[in-house]
Amino acid sequence: MQPLIPDYLDEVLAAVAPSSSGETASYIPELAAADPERLGAVFATVDGEVYGAGDVDVEFTIQSISKPFAYALALSDRGFAPVLEKVGVEPSGEAFNEISLERDTGRPRNPMINAGAMTTHSLAGAEGMKPAERVERVIRWLSAFAGRDLEVDETVCASEMESAHRNLAIAHMLRSYGILTEDPRGVVDGYIRQCSVLVSARDLAMMAATLANRGINPLSDEQVVDQAVVRQVLSVMATCGMYDAAGDWATQIGIPAKSGVAGGLIGALPGQLGIATFSPRLDSHGNSVRGVSLFERFSSDMGLHVMEVPPAGREVVRSNRVRGEGPDRTRILRLQGGIRFAGAERIVREVLDSALSEPRVVLDVSLVHSIDDVARRMLLEVARRLSLDGHQVVLLDPETIIPEPDPGDGGSLTVVHEPEEALNPGVADRWERSDWGQRLS
Ligand code: GLU
Repeated sequence: MQPLIPDYLDEVLAAVAPSSSGETASYIPELAAADPERLGAVFATVDGEVYGAGDVDVEFTIQSISKPFAYALALSDRGFAPVLEKVGVEPSGEAFNEISLERDTGRPRNPMINAGAMTTHSLAGAEGMKPAERVERVIRWLSAFAGRDLEVDETVCASEMESAHRNLAIAHMLRSYGILTEDPRGVVDGYIRQCSVLVSARDLAMMAATLANRGINPLSDEQVVDQAVVRQVLSVMATCGMYDAAGDWATQIGIPAKSGVAGGLIGALPGQLGIATFSPRLDSHGNSVRGVSLFERFSSDMGLHVMEVPPAGREVVRSNRVRGEGPDRTRILRLQGGIRFAGAERIVREVLDSALSEPRVVLDVSLVHSIDDVARRMLLEVARRLSLDGHQVVLLDPETIIPEPDPGDGGSLTVVHEPEEALNPGVADRWERSDWGQRLS
């Protein structure tokens, strides 16, 4: 069989290829000279499979796509509070290089506009780190997301430095409000170097996949960034990632994203994949014209909008039956799928509605493929309450989807791994709060 996804990517690339609208970025002379016909798209799944079509290995400068990653670095190095004190998280609805700061505080509205991005750049590394060391730190950080050593395009960097009047103006304003606390020139230099890091669409897809994969690079398996930071970064990408077109993007395409003026565009779909496209001609917002068209197609063809509502939680209870007679009467609740809060609530209701009178209750999680923390705690609380009500509660968990099933204060829970044991759990492991960590047979 021919693989499906490369064929799909070839097809969508061919569909958008004829479009020649938009212009390459003109305010950075080197970018204006880029080949406008370049076109590529890459999907990188969270388990490390990479599919590409077109110009997937052509290098270009990362530009603003560095912003979410630099934000992640500032959050990791300094912690949330010090960063939030200096950079907000509100969409500005303004162009990326608007010279505007919050009226009362002088704080940039978000880390995706240049004012916020220069501030987050200044917050990378420990306080007092020299600008040159800080840039190195940023480049190494971007490299860890890409899974290879990235380098700076010195020509683009010099070209942007020469025409950096607007960014310098913004940085001086930030300095006057005390948001920047050092020489603004050094911050602008460092920020522009950060923007001049060379990447390919393949690199960008892997960087996005690392965000989609809870901060773990799917190829190197390295935990590059903490999960809490990933959530913050994806949220800001979702609300502010596409310059002043962020609202249109969020409603129509619905993939946390970030674009750059060299024509790159990334999207990170939590738990699924990282996407990157490359096409240098930009629309009036500064977003790649054909990149946006590609994302529109990806989103609608494959139902990738993050607000697409998944099937309701009711399917988590596959069956609810009673087996056996007399003292052997056993209630078996067969659960299935991925269980989160709403699914766990459904299970609680099922238990309440069934007004259980059987001496034994089996919670069968053989067909559950994932259970998040809140659902796990709710399920164990169900087990605890049922055991306090006098039922023998058995957890049938062949794949150990619930590793340490602590039933909590006073509760007791018998864990079995084979279906036959569920009805005869005499010899199985039992977990009790008072003996937490010990197996009683
Ligand atoms: N280095 C560019 C700037 O600050 C990045 C802009 C962008 O990609 O949106 O102007």
